[in-house]
Amino acid sequence: KVRVRFAPSPTGGLHLGGVRTVLFNYLFAKHHKGEFVLRIEDTDQTRYVAGAEEYINECLRWCGLEPDESPSKGGPYAPYRQSERKASYRQYAEKLVASGHAYYAFDTPEELEEMRVRLKTPENPAPQYNHIVREKMKNSLTLQDSEVQDLLAKNTPHVIRIKMPENDTLIFTDMIRGEVSFNTGMVDDKVLLKADGMPTYHLAVVVDDYLMKITHAFRGEEWLPSAPVHILLWKHLGWESEMPEWAHLPLILKPDGNGKLSKRDGDRLGFPVYAMNWSDPRSGEFTKGFRELGFLPEAFINMLVMLGWNDGSEQEIFSMEELIAKFSMDRVHKAGAKFDFEKAKWFNHQYIHHKDNESLAALLQPMLAEKDVHAGLEFVAQVAGLVKERLYVLSEFWEHSFFFFERPKSYDTGAVVPKWNEAKEKFFTTWLPKLDKLPKQPGAAELEASFKELAAEMQIKVGELQLPFRIMLTGGKFGPPVFDIASTLGVTETQKRIAIGVD
Ligand code: GLU
Repeated sequence: KVRVRFAPSPTGGLHLGGVRTVLFNYLFAKHHKGEFVLRIEDTDQTRYVAGAEEYINECLRWCGLEPDESPSKGGPYAPYRQSERKASYRQYAEKLVASGHAYYAFDTPEELEEMRVRLKTPENPAPQYNHIVREKMKNSLTLQDSEVQDLLAKNTPHVIRIKMPENDTLIFTDMIRGEVSFNTGMVDDKVLLKADGMPTYHLAVVVDDYLMKITHAFRGEEWLPSAPVHILLWKHLGWESEMPEWAHLPLILKPDGNGKLSKRDGDRLGFPVYAMNWSDPRSGEFTKGFRELGFLPEAFINMLVMLGWNDGSEQEIFSMEELIAKFSMDRVHKAGAKFDFEKAKWFNHQYIHHKDNESLAALLQPMLAEKDVHAGLEFVAQVAGLVKERLYVLSEFWEHSFFFFERPKSYDTGAVVPKWNEAKEKFFTTWLPKLDKLPKQPGAAELEASFKELAAEMQIKVGELQLPFRIMLTGGKFGPPVFDIASTLGVTETQKRIAIGVD
C-alpha cells in the first residue's frame, strides 16, 4: 500500500515549492489509492516558529489537499509531531554506535569553534567535521574505551554523529533523476542526536519514515545532498529492504530562470510566493499570499501542477479528479520550472470565468465587507456574473464593479463634453419619466428597447447616447454592457444617476 508524507519543519509560511511538494505527494497517494501523511518535523527548537503549524494545516485545507493522517487528525502511527516522539529516537542512535556506524562526540562548542578557526582557509571557508577532522577531535573513535565510559558516566554533554565512510560510492535510484551516485567522503559526519537528547532532522526523518511505513519519499531538490546520509542510515539500521523510493522534485525557478524563486523575488517583482499571507511573529515581517490576492484554490493547484509536470498533451486545465487519474511521477521533469506570474493569473482567470456566480459571490462578499460594503449574496452574484470575465484575481473585483455598490465619485467626461448638446440633454430628461412605466427591475432588453425607441423618435444616434449614459452610471468609459448595468442597478437608481448626470 502506497504511503507518502509531507514533512515540513514549522519555520514559517509555505512557499510555492512547498505546496507543490504537498500536491505531488497527494496526487501520487490518491492515484494509487494510498495514504498521505502530514508529519511535523519540529525537532529543531531554535527554528520553531509559533503559528507555523496552524498555517500549514490551514493551507492544506484551503488547497483541498487534506492529509489522511496528521497531528490534528491522528492516525495509526501517532504522534505525528516529532517533538512528541523524542523518546523513541535515542535507541536507534545508540544502535548505530554499537554497530560502529556512529560515535559519541564530546567536543565542546569552544573546541568546535577552535577547530573551525584553525582549519579555515580560502579554499575551505567552512570546515566540516568529517572523516579527516574527526581523527583529531574528542570522540569515541579517538579516545580510549575507558575514557569514553568515564565521560558517559559523568553525564558529559555529547552528541552522536554518523561515521561517514572515507571513500565509498553510494548509488541510489531517484524516480525523477534516475541513478544518482555520491562519494561518501564528500559528506560530513552529521550529528544524529543532539546533546539535549533531541534527534536532528537526519535521524528523525529516517526513523519516522521507517516507523510510519512510508513507501515513497518526495521532497525538494535541496534535500538531495542529504540523501547519502539518509540512505546510509536506512542501511545501517538494517531497514534497507523497506527503504522508500526517493524522488527529489525540481526547483521552482525565478521568472528569468536564474536560480531558485525566493521570497525576495516576489517582493521585487510584485507577486506572492507564499500560498497564504504570513506574518512572522519574530521579525514582524509580512509576506503576501496567493489566497488573499484572490486566487481560487483550484486555479492555484492547476497552475502549480504544471510547474514541473504535464500529461504529455497540450492540455493545461485539469480538474482535481483528472489530475488524480493522470498523475504519474515519470512525467515530472528533471529541470527546474520557471515561475511565470502572468501565466498563473491566466489560470486563475480561466477558473473565475467558469465558476458559477453564487460561489463567486460567497468569496467576494467578505472582501466587500472589508471595505464596509454590505450587499446581499444575490446582488453580488448578479454583479459577479457581469464582471467575472474581466477578473484575473478576485481582488480586482472592486475596481471593476464599485459603481454597482456606490455612486461614482468622479466622472471621466473628457470624451463626451465636446459632443454634448441640448438635444442629447433633452433625450435624457425625456427618458427619465418614461422609466417610471417600466418594472422596478427591468431586464436589460426592456431598457434597451425603451432607450432605442426614444432615440429613434428624437432622431439621435443610439451610439452617441450610450457613452454619456455609461458615464452617468459608472463614471467611466469601460465595463459590462450598459443596459446590463442599468438593469442591475434598477429603475430608481438609474433615474437618480441620470438626474445627477444631466444636472
Ligand atoms: N523537514 C524537512 C523540511 O523541512 C523535510 C525534508 C524531507 O521531506 O525529507 O523540508
